[in-house]
Amino acid sequence: MTTTTSISSSGSPIGRYLPLALAAILLALPQLPVPEFWITQLNYIGLWALVSLGLVLLTGVAGLTSFGQAAFVGLGAYTSAFLATKFAVSPWITVWVGVAITIVVALVLAAITLRMSGHYLPLATIAWGLSLYYTMSNMEFLGKYDGILGVPVIEFFGIPLQSGRSYFYLIWIVALLAAVAVVRLLDSRTGRAIRSLKGGITMAEAMGISTYRYKVIVFVLAAILASLSGWLFAHFQRTVNPSPFAISKGIEFLFMAVLGGVGNVWGAFTGAALVKLVEDQLQVLLPRLLGSSGNYEVIVFGLVLVIVLKYAPQGLWPYLMKAVQAVAGRWLPPTQRVRDWGDAAKLEERDKPRRGELLLEVDKARKQFGGLVAVNDVSFTIRAGDIVGLIGPNGAGKSTTFNLITGVLELTSGSVRFRGQPVSGLPSREIARRGMSRTFQHVKMLPDMTVLENVALGGYLRSHAGVVKAMLRLDRDEEKRLFLEAETQLERIGMGGQMHELAGNLALGPQRLMEIARALATDPALLLLDEPAAGLRHKEKQALAAVLRQLKDEGLSILLVEHDMDFVMNLTDRIVVMEFGTRLIEGTPAEVQASPKVRAAYLGTEH
Ligand code: ADP
Ligand code: MG
Repeated sequence: MTTTTSISSSGSPIGRYLPLALAAILLALPQLPVPEFWITQLNYIGLWALVSLGLVLLTGVAGLTSFGQAAFVGLGAYTSAFLATKFAVSPWITVWVGVAITIVVALVLAAITLRMSGHYLPLATIAWGLSLYYTMSNMEFLGKYDGILGVPVIEFFGIPLQSGRSYFYLIWIVALLAAVAVVRLLDSRTGRAIRSLKGGITMAEAMGISTYRYKVIVFVLAAILASLSGWLFAHFQRTVNPSPFAISKGIEFLFMAVLGGVGNVWGAFTGAALVKLVEDQLQVLLPRLLGSSGNYEVIVFGLVLVIVLKYAPQGLWPYLMKAVQAVAGRWLPPTQRVRDWGDAAKLEERDKPRRGELLLEVDKARKQFGGLVAVNDVSFTIRAGDIVGLIGPNGAGKSTTFNLITGVLELTSGSVRFRGQPVSGLPSREIARRGMSRTFQHVKMLPDMTVLENVALGGYLRSHAGVVKAMLRLDRDEEKRLFLEAETQLERIGMGGQMHELAGNLALGPQRLMEIARALATDPALLLLDEPAAGLRHKEKQALAAVLRQLKDEGLSILLVEHDMDFVMNLTDRIVVMEFGTRLIEGTPAEVQASPKVRAAYLGTEH
């Protein structure tokens, strides 16, 4: 669970320069008397790490599995080999052509496959992995199974990168730059959006994130990394043929990423190194043991993969990191983010509705699930500055009403207007953009991110930096503004002291408060809370009530779904009571409390 280690900011002076020092040592290797064999090994490790780096993004961070990355490697390799041999185009140009073709192919594949869910996506990646492979294998102009021979060497300012040693620089500079770019990306607004894909689509969309868009982005990024690896591979081998780009290699890349630790950038390098080194040993050892040659190492890898998935689903990198920390912990960069946003400017705020203005109009909202009418023509309104309670026994349809208002579910009939505009039919991210923000009955968060980062996700729509800005670190001012906002909201609800903790380590009470802070970071005009007090202890409930009262005093409008009647009685201006999907009564807390119908409803279900 240590994906945050790679995402730390710079810290102690030694810690800050340690990664640079390691990179310098790595790049000095070819100058040292290291045998040619090891240089070659390291070259392959760099090439493979580049591909599994893409899988860290795709599978580890975004939760999308692809068996087809080898096909993108092939795309980069063949494009460059073909253009460089047939038309004598410089590899420094073919690389961009390869990347461009890869982007186009990846976008087409993304459009077809990324809306698939469950097992269909991995199956689809196998399908297009196979088709690209057979395309390469059967094209006359690509040399069919023989491929393309005599691929020229890459020249760097007139110096031919012919030897393994000189090529080492090219491979490792590209690989390390890619790793740095990915680390930076993950620690950014876009990165948090990508990481939120694993936290469930509903939550991400409620923060205004187009989950489909980010799936496409990571898919294309992973494809670009694979394609770059292919370009390097083609000019390293000086020949290309289809076999290294077969589906089995695609599986092997996934294996590397999972073995090394698919949740961490450096897991890609760990996995690539382990697989390369062990593969070589096995190719010598297994034929000796088994007396004949064959691809037995594949069987061993298969078994290892099963064992790793069972006993170390985070891969080996976290163990490696623990070992390193035990030995050299004090020289490592601190994992805690340095608080450097103290003097950042505030994020822009939206125009808030004036007190008393009609904010939300729910008119005959209806939702049917097959034969079940979960919400039966429910109507109510909320005026700015009010806290309205939506209460009722379990199964009354409160959460469903909530989901209808926030666009998570589509209305069967009826309408919802927000600030005078109809919002029925809009996706929830669009409704979030207009100023509704919510929490969830079952807390939805990113357990491996810190509390601060989780809350910063709420500021998504109030910020703009994209992938390139993040990779070039041109987003730092905006990041500071986001963290200042997140910290401010955490302090507002009394959680400033816990901002650096991993969200997954919090107890339920603070997790629910964190969700409120995240919703507040969106700068909402209406805050919707779904059973914020559920599962809280008495003291935590009191603390929550105090927070909500304070928010009301600050002028915020709140729709509060609650099962517990006592909790809402002293907090709300008006209460809507639901039972079996219908609105039972609407009134002030006193009116509701006095109503025999409400008593009957509650007593009726809580024998
Ligand atoms: P509450 O939040 O008041 O406890 P819900 O809105 O969660 O109630 O549920 C209302 C009714 O709708 C329940 O009978 C529930 O089983 C049903 N329901 C909720 N969501 C779905 C769904 N996605 N599919 C089918 N039935 C659902
Ligand atoms: Mg509910």
